[in-house]
Amino acid sequence: MTNREKNGFSNQPLCDSHLHIEKGTSADRAIEIFNIICDYYNYERICICALTGLGGGFKDPGGNIKALYIKSKMNEARRNNCYVFGHIYHHHDGKDTADGYLRQVKKLYEMGVDGYKFIEGKPDYRKDTGFAIDDPIYDKMYAFIEEKGLPITHHIADPRKCWDVKNASPIAIARGWVYDESFQTFDRLRAETEGLLKKFPKLKVTFAHFFFISDELEEARRFMDTYPNVSFDMTPGGEMFVGFSKDHDGWVKFFNDYSDRIYYGTDTYNFDYGNNPESYEDSGDAGHRNNLVRFALERTEPFEDIHYGTIIPLSLSEDVRKKIYHDNFVNRQGDAREVNKELCALEAANILDAYEHGLLTPHTHSEFDEELGSVKAAYEYFAK
Ligand SMILES: [Zn+2]
Repeated sequence: MTNREKNGFSNQPLCDSHLHIEKGTSADRAIEIFNIICDYYNYERICICALTGLGGGFKDPGGNIKALYIKSKMNEARRNNCYVFGHIYHHHDGKDTADGYLRQVKKLYEMGVDGYKFIEGKPDYRKDTGFAIDDPIYDKMYAFIEEKGLPITHHIADPRKCWDVKNASPIAIARGWVYDESFQTFDRLRAETEGLLKKFPKLKVTFAHFFFISDELEEARRFMDTYPNVSFDMTPGGEMFVGFSKDHDGWVKFFNDYSDRIYYGTDTYNFDYGNNPESYEDSGDAGHRNNLVRFALERTEPFEDIHYGTIIPLSLSEDVRKKIYHDNFVNRQGDAREVNKELCALEAANILDAYEHGLLTPHTHSEFDEELGSVKAAYEYFAK
């Protein structure tokens, strides 16, 4: 059984534009997991959004090189199967400079990324870096990306309710999902985003999680109309489907009008649920999010979601769905860019050296030895 057979989904290949690898397996095991996922979910292509840092102290200096290693190995087996969006690394000290960020995105370009991932606009990381989304320190970097025409997936803000400190549940507070006055406001982050788009109008930016805008249909239309190179991805934030349910007809029209500018994505991780494909669907996040997106796009009758209650599906036309699932990604990305093995070997050697001498220390969901082992595997592969 595949995911499609189990749920009666439409039979078309998908491109998942939004996966991650920071969930505590080796890079080699991540390849095995992603192969299982590609087969089970009928994924023709996947795009790994590398993360070298996150709020909450997560640090992975090897995030990019591991992702490029996975891409290169997967594409040796299936051409154009795997793409990587690279992420800049923050030192959180004087080493963070405009020229430093520019050097990093240039190096990533030369190593063979297919675009860039930013999480610098998520409230906690925005606070950690101290830089506005449109801070001039990023200008040289964005100018380079704009010139090269590579796309960006940008995570901006979080659902608006995360700023509602008075009404937040104790669980939300404990998990760090609530932003008090020490964080930038939701509206401030939106304003900084517009600042960025005004400076770099040709930047191809996809806002992750539908830009957390599903309660603001008119504002979503204004963004799309004002900034023609902007697009949204469908990666849950499942609250977006609650928003769509509140104005079903209005959102269906939105999806039809902007069908070329919406991408399928899921935040699928390298969680290890063994080698039985169906266990990925039954084990929580991976299955839940993928199915939630597909139910919402394909089903015709309201359905119950375990987290979000009754969802009224958009039930889009086959034609529009095909664009979101597949064509928009292929049209934007074309073939996966070539990985420069020589440069990647050099980068892997630098990170290995820094790990071994304690100059850089990863803080991920893996033990240090596993991170060291993954970067070592990447080095040995690229240096061959
Ligand atoms: Zn994500």
